Amino acid sequence: MTDRTKKLREYDKNFIWHPFTQMKEYEKKEPIVIEEAEGVYLFDTEGRKYIDGVSSLWVNIHGHKVPEIDRAIKEQVEKLGHSTLLGITNPAAAELAKELIEICPTGLKKVFYSGDGASAVEVAIKMAFQYWQHKGKPKKTKFVSLENGYHGDTLGAVSLGGIDIFHATFKPLLFETYKAPSYYCYRCPLGQTYPSCEVACAGEVEKILSEHHNEIAAVIFEPYVQAAGGMIVSPPGYLEQVRGCCDKYDVLMILDEVATGFGRTGKMFACEHEGVTPDIMVLGKGMTGGYLPLSATIVTQEIYDAFLGEYEEFKTFFHGHSYAGNPISCAAGLGNLEAFRNYNTLEELEEKIEFLEQELREFKGLKHVGDVRNKGFMVGIELVEDRETKKPYPVKMKMGWKVAELAMEEEVLIRPLGNVIVVMPPIGISMEDLKKLLTVTYRAIKKTTES
Ligand SMILES: *Cc1c(COP(=O)(O)O)cnc(C)c1O
Repeated sequence: MTDRTKKLREYDKNFIWHPFTQMKEYEKKEPIVIEEAEGVYLFDTEGRKYIDGVSSLWVNIHGHKVPEIDRAIKEQVEKLGHSTLLGITNPAAAELAKELIEICPTGLKKVFYSGDGASAVEVAIKMAFQYWQHKGKPKKTKFVSLENGYHGDTLGAVSLGGIDIFHATFKPLLFETYKAPSYYCYRCPLGQTYPSCEVACAGEVEKILSEHHNEIAAVIFEPYVQAAGGMIVSPPGYLEQVRGCCDKYDVLMILDEVATGFGRTGKMFACEHEGVTPDIMVLGKGMTGGYLPLSATIVTQEIYDAFLGEYEEFKTFFHGHSYAGNPISCAAGLGNLEAFRNYNTLEELEEKIEFLEQELREFKGLKHVGDVRNKGFMVGIELVEDRETKKPYPVKMKMGWKVAELAMEEEVLIRPLGNVIVVMPPIGISMEDLKKLLTVTYRAIKKTTES
């Protein structure tokens, strides 16, 4: 180990408290220090290279050091680092908003910028709530969200969340929501099977709305994939059905596309798979191609118009973050979209998804793989102690982590969600690197679970 690595690790351990990390364990480890990157490879200070198998926690799109994004950021830095969006504007924010509306599902018209996914979710909650106040239906104040859902770690977002290990501790601080069951086919909470179920989980949303729509402002969920919940993939038809009942009962539909947006599921946005337009769409993560924090809450004209009024009516949306519409972040966002065009990213992706799905079939043959699921480039491989009974591995065994540690020895970085192995590389990955990533993951699962 070089002295430099030693010194950096020491600084890190002395001074950083890491997110979602048990620091007691972390303190005993020798964390890798990532210093450089190229394409889908990350390089550490010891000269080792790793495939970025989970897109640096689901944010990276085309790989690292993308010329379009690098250039956009450099050019912007030369001109302006930051200026506020409160009452005035900047070129990058304006241009990016125009381009976003061009690629968003028809009907979405206005972009409200924030810094990260959770804040953009807070914005969606507050907008939906205030919208009904302005529409003369002040009793519509409640939200419906899903079990196993994840919308970020701020308190409003946690209130909507449905992952007990993350969210239960904070219960006394949260507002109450209606919880609909997860669209988790492998462990169907309704004990049914697709397709004979006729997507009964969407029917559960309808039941809640039919009884309580007078007090419900909005339904919010992650379209097609509950990402942090374990890469749970919804059955087809779910989105369309929920859209239908939101219309029927006059309830807003908020889609959290923070993880699924920007090509991850095979289309620019997951809701396009069923031709659904939400009333509010939340974007984050991949918005800058994985370079800088930037998020957006994008709404219909109808919602925007409800907030128009005279100054003294106080219909204004009183919310904003200091760095909203930061020009450097927005420039990165423009670079990201330019890269999509230059590399025909979405067209190229189709063939890669086909290849990925073909390779994933192999995993189903492993003795302790209970379920292999994906929507495009979001893959969850669920490990089980017993395939017959679907009995999960006990938490204490840390099977997911053991697999990830083995993969790391073979220069592949992945991060599991409990017993679910996540594979979610940048969508710009080459077939060759994708093959390597899957081969190493397969070997690591086999070795960990079968020896
Ligand atoms: C990651 C994530 C968020 C939160 O985004 P942050 O930028 O981490 O705050 C919200 N919703 C979904 C679906 C996510 O995956």
